[in-house]
Amino acid sequence: MASNAEILKEKIIEWGASKVAFANAGDYLPAYFKNLKYAVSIAVRLSDAIIDEIKDAPTHTYFHHYKAVNALIDNITLRASLLIQDWGYLAAAIPASQTVKTSEDLYTGIFQHKTAANLSGLGWIGKSGLLITPEYGPRVRLGTILTDMELPGTEDIHNTDCKGCNICKIACPAMAITGKNWYKGVQRSEIIDAEACSKYMNTNFKHIGRGSVCGICMNVCPHGKNINKRKMERV
Ligand code: SF4
Ligand code: SF4
Repeated sequence: MASNAEILKEKIIEWGASKVAFANAGDYLPAYFKNLKYAVSIAVRLSDAIIDEIKDAPTHTYFHHYKAVNALIDNITLRASLLIQDWGYLAAAIPASQTVKTSEDLYTGIFQHKTAANLSGLGWIGKSGLLITPEYGPRVRLGTILTDMELPGTEDIHNTDCKGCNICKIACPAMAITGKNWYKGVQRSEIIDAEACSKYMNTNFKHIGRGSVCGICMNVCPHGKNINKRKMERV
């Protein structure tokens, strides 16, 4: 008989995720979710056709796609959290895209999706601050469910694979990428200036939309360019 964890994975893929994995995120939780130490991390692959359209500026199509994929992620994580709850456990779906201003950080969420994604082994974190998956590079959006239902973990990925590459740093029009390699425990501000990134979009592309990012660093990353070799491998 399939375990709850196996059923959950199957359902999440059936509902539209491209990748799903589990992690113990106990060291990274906000105080009010401290009992929900297991994380279900999901990734939804973005449209290569739409990301390839971004050259030196975001597009209307990208902005809509960004919102549509966030809506899909919110739908998947809500359904998954309700399923877990039906099994008798607590579960909270973390919003796909929500900024919560704190005294320390004006541009953060209640929980970083890429933390769970990295801990669960879905990918590594690049100089762009984006999660880089082996299959799709950074061309994914992430979602997370926190729960007290025990889940089997996967090995997290400590290394990065940017090597000498600085393509995203050079391409970033806001000069928001410092060019430093990510390492476990690094402060986000050492890797990326989130304020500069957000302000660039809001200042220059308000006519396209607020609440998203320009997407150039995602477009240029070589790990996302190898479209022909990529397969819809799902884990
Ligand atoms: S989204 Fe745009 S402004 Fe923000 S870091 Fe990436 S390239 Fe720079
Ligand atoms: S563009 Fe280069 S430096 Fe930036 S995340 Fe991708 S591999 Fe790393």
